[in-house]
Amino acid sequence: MTSSLALISEGFETTTDGHPPAPMSDGSTKNNNSETRDELNPFHSMAHQFGLAADLLGLDAGTREVLRQPDRELTVSLPIVKDDGEIQVFTGYRVQHNFSRGPCKGGIRFAPDVNLDEVRALAAWMTWKCSVVDIPFGGGKGGVICDPRELSQGELERLTRRYTVSIMDILGPDRDVPAPDMNTNEQTMAWIMDTYSMHVRRTTTAIVTGKPIVIGGSHGRREATGRGVMLICREAMKKLGRSPEDTRVVVQGCGNVGGIGALLLHREGYKIVSISDMYGCLHDQGGLDMPAVMDYMKENGRLEGYPDTDYLDNKEQLELPCELLVPAATENQITSENAGRIQAQLIVEGANGPTTPRGQEILDERGVMVVPDILANAGGVTVSYFEWVQDRMGYFWTEEIVNSRLEQVMVKAFHSVADMAELHNVNMRTGAYLVAIDRVARVYRMRGVFA
Ligand code: GLU
Repeated sequence: MTSSLALISEGFETTTDGHPPAPMSDGSTKNNNSETRDELNPFHSMAHQFGLAADLLGLDAGTREVLRQPDRELTVSLPIVKDDGEIQVFTGYRVQHNFSRGPCKGGIRFAPDVNLDEVRALAAWMTWKCSVVDIPFGGGKGGVICDPRELSQGELERLTRRYTVSIMDILGPDRDVPAPDMNTNEQTMAWIMDTYSMHVRRTTTAIVTGKPIVIGGSHGRREATGRGVMLICREAMKKLGRSPEDTRVVVQGCGNVGGIGALLLHREGYKIVSISDMYGCLHDQGGLDMPAVMDYMKENGRLEGYPDTDYLDNKEQLELPCELLVPAATENQITSENAGRIQAQLIVEGANGPTTPRGQEILDERGVMVVPDILANAGGVTVSYFEWVQDRMGYFWTEEIVNSRLEQVMVKAFHSVADMAELHNVNMRTGAYLVAIDRVARVYRMRGVFA
């Protein structure tokens, strides 16, 4: 079985205009997509992962059909007046994959290569992620095609506000609750909260999570994804019988997930031998002084130039000698092309979708343990849930309470996935999908089909 065949068996193809593809019953491919294009399409990856677990669960055809495609997709056109007085029109998306278990939940990313298939995949991954950690949300995701580095702060604010107004018919604390993702942050969330609140004529803090603490954000939210990654590393390491002191770690990405994850892992005693930004990576087999590296990053906006360490091309980074690899940047980093050369024994996915299905198969053959994204990076959305709860109560918790509740959720989720994987003799990714899909499918069947 090749992965492209497996992908096709879920009936997905990408159409060039980005419209929903028609499922194909005969399993054939009509677009004659190249294997690489299939492999690198995140929606195909998601469909493949979903299909493997749905088969094992013996999911009935109807429920399968419902859960494999998004419930709703919105594409919006976003004109803004640039600083030079010219109008520029951007494109934005919000995809709601499923809300059986609660309001849709998921971030908004600003990036030049955002596309509908990516947002669809990310929305579905949010459904499975919220289900794996058993928080009462469905999945959604948004994106705006833009390069934030080319926009002024004022332009970014106008774009964010216009996007909010354009999608606000489908948003709401009980409907769909956005959060930060790639290139969006607390400030972006503050603008969304304000824009929504001005339109509904009341301050509605629970409309987004990942806000600044002074306007209803939660303690611990900023660090939550990185903290979750650290907790999952701890549980996985126990399973492998390894200790942090003799574990070299390569971290791809030094943003909110990779940077904070690396700092916390360093604090736990791991040796961080490499960390990257979008331009290149630092490498020191003796171990990096992570607090100093992150201070340098903050001051200079990039890692290049950090003293007394090697600075390498990012292409080499994932293949550096190490025991633990944390891809915490973006999709499609571990593929059929490089999976055979990865030296780590344990991979903990801080990013969404960093490993393609073919990449995973190669890692499986080589006995590498991969803790999948929908479990490993679920710390962020878990504390988003805590933030939403606190906003609705109007009563705020201490950082200690947030962190200890996060730990309980992550540890429990890790073990339910590991147990499920063992029970079915499958890898952790399929174990996580089994846990997630089973929960959503049960709720779906219990609620029944509205007619
Ligand atoms: N964007 C984050 C993720 O991919 C957080 C989502 C949220 O908190 O809603 O999990």
